[in-house]
Amino acid sequence: MLLRSLIDLMFPPLCHACKGVIPVADGASPQPLICADCLGQISFLQSPLCTRCGAPFATEHGSDHLCGACLCHQPFHTCRSAAVLEGPLQDLIHRFKYGGKMHLADPLALLAWQRLEGFLREAGPDCVVPVPLHRKRLRQRGYNQSQLLAELFGRKLKVPQVVGNLRRLRWTEPQTGLDAGDRVTNVKGAFGVGDPEALAGKRVLLVDDVFTTGSTLGACVDVLREAEVAAVAAVTVARGIPH
Ligand SMILES: [Zn+2]
Ligand SMILES: [Zn+2]
Repeated sequence: MLLRSLIDLMFPPLCHACKGVIPVADGASPQPLICADCLGQISFLQSPLCTRCGAPFATEHGSDHLCGACLCHQPFHTCRSAAVLEGPLQDLIHRFKYGGKMHLADPLALLAWQRLEGFLREAGPDCVVPVPLHRKRLRQRGYNQSQLLAELFGRKLKVPQVVGNLRRLRWTEPQTGLDAGDRVTNVKGAFGVGDPEALAGKRVLLVDDVFTTGSTLGACVDVLREAEVAAVAAVTVARGIPH
């Protein structure tokens, strides 16, 4: 403990978001090493949410319940995200995903873990499965950001991460700039499960960095369901909320 305090005094921890020094008292709290100021600018999602898809309701009152869309057509999977994709969180995710900042995986995953631990433990997954990248994109980026995030969830839940079974079968254009309908079409048939027997009967935690319209997660869930998994809980660090 003393050594830790000395190290913190000599090399104070820096906020991953604003690069400002985190006061030692705050730094003593567990990672993710995001200062109180930046944390204060992150809009964490909170109840009332849809119990199924995790969509936030416009009102701040009341308890969680099914949203209209899930009432009409209840999805196979449940989904939760930690916070809205804006402000310092959007910046962090952008640097993590497009700026080669792989070291941001743990702080971002931890941020989500701290908000969603109850949901993740209740989901009780047997394994963690990251949303895969196409080979070409993986070569360009050098890493799959979802896989790096999923590592922490696997460690915390003490379950293995299964990589390579859920696959991208074909190249898809980036979803950015497409509307909800086009996003569904764009990823239709893009995923497949290589070895369905290995996943059959398993409870799967599906991990991605960002939820926008849910079309990518939905396409993954479709093929996991065909592989006869028992259940899918999906988690993302951030959720884009249409304004
Ligand atoms: Zn900061
Ligand atoms: Zn819903």
